[in-house]
Amino acid sequence: MNLANAHKYRHLLKRWRAVSLEAGLKMIPVSRFDGYKIYEIISPACSGNRGIYLSAGIHGDEVGAVQGLLCWAEKNVRNLATLPLRLFPCLNPWGMEENSRFCQTGGDLNRLWGGGKSALTAAIQNRIQNMKFHLILNLHEDYDADGAYLYELTRGPRSKARGEKMLQGLEGLIPRDSRESIEKRKVRNGIIRPRPRNFLADELPEALYLFQNHTDHSYTVETPSELDLEVRVNAQVRMIEAALTS
Ligand SMILES: [Zn+2]
Repeated sequence: MNLANAHKYRHLLKRWRAVSLEAGLKMIPVSRFDGYKIYEIISPACSGNRGIYLSAGIHGDEVGAVQGLLCWAEKNVRNLATLPLRLFPCLNPWGMEENSRFCQTGGDLNRLWGGGKSALTAAIQNRIQNMKFHLILNLHEDYDADGAYLYELTRGPRSKARGEKMLQGLEGLIPRDSRESIEKRKVRNGIIRPRPRNFLADELPEALYLFQNHTDHSYTVETPSELDLEVRVNAQVRMIEAALTS
């Protein structure tokens, strides 16, 4: 696994360009934010208004998530064209370069999807406005975590199977987070099922905006930032694979 230059956006883009070229994906600049071009990557199977949405790096200091999405794509490069993908490989390049959770003005981009928008979140929302995703994965990391965990927001049937399978796939690699409560939300065996009405509109996170407008199946995965980067990246890869096959 190549984890050199994990905080270098130029290096990240170079590898995504190589993956996109090999897999036949389109890499499209969608915004310029904090001095960096933000890219969307679309597979040929993502035609019409349906697809799978994956994003990483909205918090710049969560490089395990950004590298996890890249390593998953590199590992599965032969299958990518057949999956209906809309990927946002790094939503906060400035934060990644600076190892900061926040964007250059100090805002948390994952709280600006509702009333208080940023140019970045507005651009993403504009790109996906008519889309309905059958699965959404937002990849994150957490400094306070002692294991992996996830937020599962679902409507309809199959609502409890996928999150459990995603965490089961980590056995032998990384434990589940042991906390019973995370940010005042109840955790059951590493899974949080938040009630959407608990969020204020002006602090709306990406996952909830997408769940309210674009999907019935939203997952936010979290790996513990204090663990070895390679372990975290492997955990992210396994959770993406489990999510897509369950
Ligand atoms: Zn995060």
